[in-house]
Amino acid sequence: MDVKTKFRMNSKELINSIKNNEFIIFLQPKFDTITEKVVGAEALVRRLKAEKIVMPSEFIPQYEKTGAITKLDMYVLEEVCKLQEKWKKLKFPLIPISINESRHHLKNKNHINELQKVINKYNVDTNLIELEMTETTVIEDILTAKGAAEAVKKLGFIVSMDDFGTGYSSFNILKDIEIDILKIDKEFFKNLDDNKRAQIIIETIVKMCKKLKIKTVAEGIETKKQLDFLKKIGCDIIQGYYFSKPITIDEFEKKYLEK
Ligand code: C2E
Ligand code: MG
Ligand code: MG
Repeated sequence: MDVKTKFRMNSKELINSIKNNEFIIFLQPKFDTITEKVVGAEALVRRLKAEKIVMPSEFIPQYEKTGAITKLDMYVLEEVCKLQEKWKKLKFPLIPISINESRHHLKNKNHINELQKVINKYNVDTNLIELEMTETTVIEDILTAKGAAEAVKKLGFIVSMDDFGTGYSSFNILKDIEIDILKIDKEFFKNLDDNKRAQIIIETIVKMCKKLKIKTVAEGIETKKQLDFLKKIGCDIIQGYYFSKPITIDEFEKKYLEK
């Protein structure tokens, strides 16, 4: 079967599963390093199959391969817009929610219009939506990524770079693309306590970002020791199991937003 036919099938199947509410969004809170208060969340998709939760690693690669992932990402964006609209109505504290943007959007010249179209449907401020591009996506085509980042920033979206440090020429990207937030990949924080070199690298990234006026998010923080280190070096935001795993929207609202 060629990729186009596979894409069509995947898209059809995907649209049906979206209609059947098979995809649900979990939110993982992000915390201010110093105050330890919630300052944002990341939307992470899960699939419900036979009442079991299927993780993104089991279905995203397949959708990525065919390009059908773009439909799923737009669904997530739409759900996040609805959620922000609801929170506004309920007078909950308004915090930005980030969504993951697949590499396929970059190649799509119409993507900005698609984003605008969704945004126009809802009463939501674009500065409450953060678009996460992964470092590897950006490296594939820096010029296009630069253009895309500028265009979405013009619309008011927050732009962040996800999984920083996993690609080959990370620093080169920072020279070319004006992002708002840098998410330092969780790999950096593994065995942090006895890896002095990793500590120096992280501290240097945080310092550099401060000079570039880029906020830093540390991903995958699981221990108090890691948190203390990040407090000491001035990393802005923490995301990780130490504070919370991704949870359902209901749980998130009850735990962090309802008074
Ligand atoms: P990501 O965007 O880097 O998201 C962070 C992942 O790290 C999440 O995995 C999260 O549950 C996990 N994580 C957070 N804190 C910790 C921690 O302290 N320890 C450990 N071990 N893991 C932690 P998840 O939800 O399984 O998502 C995996 C990846 O799937 C995401 O990585 C993202 O690349 C992709 N993904 C998820 N949802 C979407 C989506 O709607 N669209 C697209 N295109 N990709 C998505
Ligand atoms: Mg992400
Ligand atoms: Mg990440």
